[in-house]
Amino acid sequence: MKYKRVLFKISGESLAGESKTGIDFDSVLNICESIKECYDAGCEVAIVVGGGNFWRGKYHEDMDRLNADHIGMLATTMNAIALEDGFSKLGVEARVQTGVEMREIAEYYITNRALHHLNKGRIMIFGCGTGKPFFSTDTGAALRAAEIKADVIIKATKTDGVFNKDPNKFKNAKVYSKITYMDVLNNKLGVMDSTAVTLCMENNIPIIVLNMNKKHYMYRAVKGDNVGTVIK
Ligand code: UDP
Repeated sequence: MKYKRVLFKISGESLAGESKTGIDFDSVLNICESIKECYDAGCEVAIVVGGGNFWRGKYHEDMDRLNADHIGMLATTMNAIALEDGFSKLGVEARVQTGVEMREIAEYYITNRALHHLNKGRIMIFGCGTGKPFFSTDTGAALRAAEIKADVIIKATKTDGVFNKDPNKFKNAKVYSKITYMDVLNNKLGVMDSTAVTLCMENNIPIIVLNMNKKHYMYRAVKGDNVGTVIK
């Protein structure tokens, strides 16, 4: 394995399947199975999950952003619980920690506790992103990756990596195999928000953007194969 401690960023939408909202259990199990391949190969696995299948704070302009983001963080927690359930169906022990305390449901995020669980072979699922409004779960992924000293962030998406232009609009859009943090920031490539990219740059954490629907791509990425786009 090229990367030992891996943090996966999973969007909320990827848990919703075709319907794009709510939780589709086949999709949850597919994601858990792909991640389990990396776990079985010896990786320590942490996950930050988004909430876009339920709610994204910034799209609710009629609501105070603080309140809208609190709802968004609750949405990420629902997804975190669904993933925990998916892993338990596959016989893998996983734990949810949230950046906002909700002790009847999950542990509160404490780095040393998270590391303890990882050492015990548990998959960690982090809900609430950073635990603060005005941030995204991409930034939450960058923050948690820095805190637990992850070797890499794997951003699982529906596209093949980072493109030079929008592949939905331009047929001749090309996917990069390697790119720098500054390229992403200067060209506003929009693969992750700039706060997240900056945090990764400052902490030297590579990001691999890949297509999660391609079989074994997550496993191949952590093994060191050239899949998707590496940002470093
Ligand atoms: N959110 C937040 N702080 C964070 C992370 C997320 O307030 O640190 C809220 C925010 O409203 C965001 C929502 O949770 O829109 C869901 O997260 P995100 O949009 O990143 O989910 P994804 O697009 O990855 O599914």
